[in-house]
Amino acid sequence: MQKEIITEEQLEQLKTLIKESETIICVCHQNPDGDALGSTLGWADVLKTSFGKEPQVIVPDQYPDYLHWLPNSDKIIRYDKHKEGCDWTFQHADLIFCLDFNTTSRVDAMQQALDNSPAKKVLIDHHLNPDVPAEITISHPKASSASELVFRLTWQLDVFEEQTKFFATHIYCGMMTDTGAFTYNSDSCDIYFIISQLLTKNINKDKIYRNVYHNFSEDRLRLMGYVLYQKLVVDNTRHASYFTLSRDDLKRFNFVKGDAEGLVNMPLQIKGHKLSISLREDTEKENVVWVSLRSVDQFPCNEMAAQFFNGGGHLNASGGRLNCSIEEAVKVAEKAILAFENMLKG
Ligand code: 5GP
Ligand code: MN
Repeated sequence: MQKEIITEEQLEQLKTLIKESETIICVCHQNPDGDALGSTLGWADVLKTSFGKEPQVIVPDQYPDYLHWLPNSDKIIRYDKHKEGCDWTFQHADLIFCLDFNTTSRVDAMQQALDNSPAKKVLIDHHLNPDVPAEITISHPKASSASELVFRLTWQLDVFEEQTKFFATHIYCGMMTDTGAFTYNSDSCDIYFIISQLLTKNINKDKIYRNVYHNFSEDRLRLMGYVLYQKLVVDNTRHASYFTLSRDDLKRFNFVKGDAEGLVNMPLQIKGHKLSISLREDTEKENVVWVSLRSVDQFPCNEMAAQFFNGGGHLNASGGRLNCSIEEAVKVAEKAILAFENMLKG
């Protein structure tokens, strides 16, 4: 495995920044997923274990139920719940690590606090076009996950040996969730070298899989059946599909955060299917529809997300949001599929 992901100069700068900082914060994007939490908690582990720091992990809002088993997740501070205290911390911090996002608009309501903080910033991310003003930008869009980058940084710092089982669990969870359990964006042989190293920390990788993917309620399973049977609209000519989840649907199946996870991947099981779009109404805010896109091969759902859904992401997994009704969102999705039909039909 290639050892260097930053220059020797940057590495020294990073060590100095950490050593000279007293108050350190680690943050990730809103609606944190397995990689956002895995990379943030994993990097916080390194700061504790190898640098003797006590970093605070602050996330913009609620994270899904299926990630509550993550070690140390009980110590995470939610910005939306503790705004005043967090604002104070942002104002008095020396150093902020930004993990798994490329622009501060991705932290939503926490953006102002982050933008206005006088602290120095370090970005560790794998999205295209990093745009966070930082002392050090560690950006590798080809990496499977931000968690992979945290591992590589730990490896380059030569402090992997002293990391704990918790660290390995965080990193494995992030790499696994951002690759759909190693079913996409996961062809690099380095990934499997990293996993072999994580296994030396005695993680139970099968248990981590079950914790993430077999941790749903009966309601969620029935929601999945309902979506596939009644809500999925398939365009066989264009090898694409979409489905909506209205607020009434969500109420009917006692929706909790995280229940929609993975649903958008399922239509890709149809032979020859190239694109799947999920349109989900926010459970509280009017005229907010959350969009998820998944594709296979070279279909660029990040381009579609940017052009039609105010979002972005990776080639095969992207997201965004629309400020409109769910009916209007359907029209946008249909328009998007038509606009990309040449790529979809081929
Ligand atoms: P999901 O569908 O799981 O919410 O998101 C899939 C991927 O798209 C994630 O890796 C996430 O980083 C990215 N993503 C989701 N929403 C947005 C967005 O609004 N902007 C950008 N740039 N990326 C997004
Ligand atoms: Mn990620």
